[in-house]
Amino acid sequence: MFDSIQKKLSKAFKNLKGQGKLSEKNIKDAVREVKMSLLEADVNYKVVKDFVERVKEKALGKEVLESLTPDQEFIRIVRDELIELMGGNEKPKLNISKRPGYIMLVGLQGSGKTTHAAKLAKYFKKQGKSPLLVAADTYRPAAIDQLVQLGESIGVPVFTGDRKNAVNIVKEAMDYAEKLLHDIVILDTAGRLHIDEEMMNELVEIKKLVEPDEILMVVDAMIGQDAVNSAKEFNDRLELDGFIVTKLDGDARGGVIISIRQITNKPIKFVGVGEKVDDLELFYPDRYASRILG
Ligand code: GDP
Repeated sequence: MFDSIQKKLSKAFKNLKGQGKLSEKNIKDAVREVKMSLLEADVNYKVVKDFVERVKEKALGKEVLESLTPDQEFIRIVRDELIELMGGNEKPKLNISKRPGYIMLVGLQGSGKTTHAAKLAKYFKKQGKSPLLVAADTYRPAAIDQLVQLGESIGVPVFTGDRKNAVNIVKEAMDYAEKLLHDIVILDTAGRLHIDEEMMNELVEIKKLVEPDEILMVVDAMIGQDAVNSAKEFNDRLELDGFIVTKLDGDARGGVIISIRQITNKPIKFVGVGEKVDDLELFYPDRYASRILG
């Protein structure tokens, strides 16, 4: 599982052979390799710094230095700490308490909001629920047609309203959902290339109106460090419940996962692993530890 980091670490551990024990220098070299690897994966610098301090402290303890397989022990510590950073062993879960339940998707343009609205709808439909999709991204008109098409492809109705005023669309969609007995409503909202006040105000207004069970920010794993700043801003304004990190089928190693979790202290609930409506997975930290190390 840890093949490539193991290769990198073998250099740091090379003096070990025959000696039986790790020296402090071995550990320091290995910690440096881990640090470089995490920075290359786009993990936020401050997060990396705290992380390597913790690893160093643990690795310099007796357990590792006196272990018969200290290199394995070291890797175990790195892996466990990484998993902890991503949320430990907590089970990914949506807290839907109302009926209908409301999930509001927010995020920058191009992050994958519209696609993931449809993926979530399909996810709920498979569980026997009756989802309604709401096209409230009036800033990017093509998003409405895109959602209508996606809805058709998975057999889930899409509420479009007047296609102009997002708050009105959501208001009408709420009545519609109650009348037609939908049990879960997924709102696709407007994003921008960069955060702006008008967009945030609209999102805050929709939040007040709906009081969603879950506000999830959709974050593109490919955008690296910038994701941290936008996640922080969205969280400050909207008090997010969690994240969906998308495009993890691409080259991105996923350092974003660690950064946004650490900076906002909110969980990653799903990951997007492709463009198709079925390419959605619940997020399990242990599956991503090795990928992030590279
Ligand atoms: P929005 O502007 O946030 O609504 O973003 P879209 O849902 O329109 O997605 C932007 C682009 O990213 C589209 O071309 C999607 O097909 C693509 N996309 C979304 N999610 C994923 C994913 O998990 N993996 C890949 N490879 N592409 C994705």
